[in-house]
Amino acid sequence: MARLIISADGPERFTVWKEAFAKAAPDLTVCSWYAPETEVLPSDYVLVWQPEDEHYAALAQVKAILCTGAGVDHLLQHPDFPLHVPLVRMGGEQTAQLMADYVTWAAISLNRDARTWALQQQRHEWVYNSVARTTAETRIGIMGLGHLGGYVATHLARMGFQVAGWKRSRATLPDVQVYVGQEALPDFLSRTDILVNLLPSTPHTRDLVTLKFLENLPRGAGFINVGRGEHVVQQDLLQALNTGLLSGAVLDVVAPEPLPHESPLWDHPRITVTPHTASHASAYWQAKYIAQSITQLERGVTPALLCNPHTGY
Ligand code: NDP
Repeated sequence: MARLIISADGPERFTVWKEAFAKAAPDLTVCSWYAPETEVLPSDYVLVWQPEDEHYAALAQVKAILCTGAGVDHLLQHPDFPLHVPLVRMGGEQTAQLMADYVTWAAISLNRDARTWALQQQRHEWVYNSVARTTAETRIGIMGLGHLGGYVATHLARMGFQVAGWKRSRATLPDVQVYVGQEALPDFLSRTDILVNLLPSTPHTRDLVTLKFLENLPRGAGFINVGRGEHVVQQDLLQALNTGLLSGAVLDVVAPEPLPHESPLWDHPRITVTPHTASHASAYWQAKYIAQSITQLERGVTPALLCNPHTGY
């Protein structure tokens, strides 16, 4: 029987994980990395988020590492991460649904200028604002059409948005116009009223969103960042918002996290900040997905979200 050692979230949340796995996968043996009697064996699976430095040597010994996040850039960037050990990213239906809900909410918030409503309410002001675009008039552009981006794109298209996506390799998705590669980027951006970032953080995508990049969008476009804060040059984003190049931004991810108390992003009248929570699935759904991936690995089946350490996602 497979054994999963929980290192994610420190010793404090072990009880939560234990209960979640007891419900989602009663056959799986689960133990805590932090219990003194736990010895890490080559037949073990380990669940991680941000392991402590001294844990990396033991991670090199295990059968596979499973991450509670879909983005694994922080692991791959660690000098001691064992690249030879299979690494499985978080996924599953609930994670994708939550992300689709978040992006839908953010896109409609940008179209209705909900940030202005919130500020007006704080000041007890009753001022009408007119609507920039209806859903059907809005051209959404999603950077990254993978597990999450593909799901979000299909969901938004079903809701009546005009949806396009940008990725590295060719693909077809129902009712989604797919732009491929660097040379297609200017055309993709110039047809985009609301840009959604759902890229992984890799050497090719970090610092991608600069002022020059944003100048390709129609003036007054909106921006939703649910990828990583490192994708965006923050000063350039602020300049784009302050000059009207962008009309608003919804940021679930920032750099660094947590966002420092003194950051100008907090109080900016055109920015909504949320605490990296767009698709944080319940422990039960995460446990279900992790257990499913372990079953696949035990049967010699490659899990869909096995990370390729060479591409970084
Ligand atoms: P996937 O690996 O499934 O998809 C990544 C997509 O990005 C693919 O379509 C890939 O293209 C595309 N891509 C990668 N590099 C490039 C590039 N250089 N140029 C163009 N396209 C590129 O990832 P997920 O959908 O599972 O997750 C995406 C990211 O979302 C995560 O890495 C993480 O950073 C973020 N995330 C944020 C969360 C939050 O709560 N805010 C929660 C979960 C994830 P191709 O298919 O052609 O290879």
